[in-house]
Amino acid sequence: MTVDELLKQLVDIDSVNPSLVPGAAGEREIADFVASWASQAGLAVEVLEGTPGRPSVIVRTTRGGPGRRLMLCGHLDTVGFGDSTESSVDGDRLYGRGAYDMKAGLAAALIACRDANVDSLAGEVVVACVADEEYASLGVQEVLSVLSADAAIVCEPTESTIAVAHKGFVWTEIEVVGKAAHGSRPHLGVDAIMRTGPVLVALDRLNQALRGRQHPRLGPGTLHASLITGGREESTVPDRCVLTVERRTLPGESVADIERDVAELLASCRAEDPSLAAQSRTTMSREPFETADDSPIVSVLAEVSGAEITGVSYWADSAFISAAGIPTVLFGPSGDGAHAAVEWVSISDTIRCADTLTAAALRFCR
Ligand SMILES: [Zn+2]
Repeated sequence: MTVDELLKQLVDIDSVNPSLVPGAAGEREIADFVASWASQAGLAVEVLEGTPGRPSVIVRTTRGGPGRRLMLCGHLDTVGFGDSTESSVDGDRLYGRGAYDMKAGLAAALIACRDANVDSLAGEVVVACVADEEYASLGVQEVLSVLSADAAIVCEPTESTIAVAHKGFVWTEIEVVGKAAHGSRPHLGVDAIMRTGPVLVALDRLNQALRGRQHPRLGPGTLHASLITGGREESTVPDRCVLTVERRTLPGESVADIERDVAELLASCRAEDPSLAAQSRTTMSREPFETADDSPIVSVLAEVSGAEITGVSYWADSAFISAAGIPTVLFGPSGDGAHAAVEWVSISDTIRCADTLTAAALRFCR
């Protein structure tokens, strides 16, 4: 089977993440398909299912000798938004939900594992086909609990560049507390929504200040106000306003750093207005990641592909793999429309990506 045939079959299987869309298909059918494809291709297969209904599949070469282990990683799930899961081809473009993010990368990784499974292989190529990347990354965390590697390539779409860094993110909830009162007697209340105004202004100022520190491949850290809710009814002074802010972090910035920034910001708002009653908490965070340019996996991929070294804007499972102590890069084909209405991937690029991964695996595993 060629990589474009495998890609088409993977796209045709609905694997929308059920944590994003209640009742959606999940990874069961696509995991079964990958497991049976891999065994027919002469590869070893292990299914992990610590969370019922959310299987991940580990596929391994069988013919290697002693040597280094390379992990290729791709997620099985897709988001629910966008066009149909049925694939269609127009010229070099294969359309369908998940084609670009990231069934093309997954197909290329599986084909590379099959094509590197030769007697001259030293070491081992492992493909981690993981569940739930689009929500809570259950799959990659489960795989990392049983498997390590000397390096990893996450085959998310990178337009065929070698991505060695991406940002992390921190979600902060800021609650401003006021006091309810009749709208005709506002002096008896404290307007929580009005008091949130200066906090928003201060956050906007912080966002502008973040531009002062630029990562060479990722640009500055950023923040935006994601959600705001408050108030009870028209004629009542609001007693509560809750603001959620997302901060996109650079390598080297920790959750504690972001929590300190928010605490300092609220303290300065309080200095301006002593009646401000506000508290903050972190509701979710994911680490940034960065791999050194002179790491062996970066050199090997650069040698076999001649590709440029970059950073990518999005977060991915690479952060978990890197945090487990495994030097990690991202490398995948070009296309467009991740999490958008119309999604496509370049077929010729997917074929080149599979060839590059095969060459990289044979060179790295020695
Ligand atoms: Zn993805």
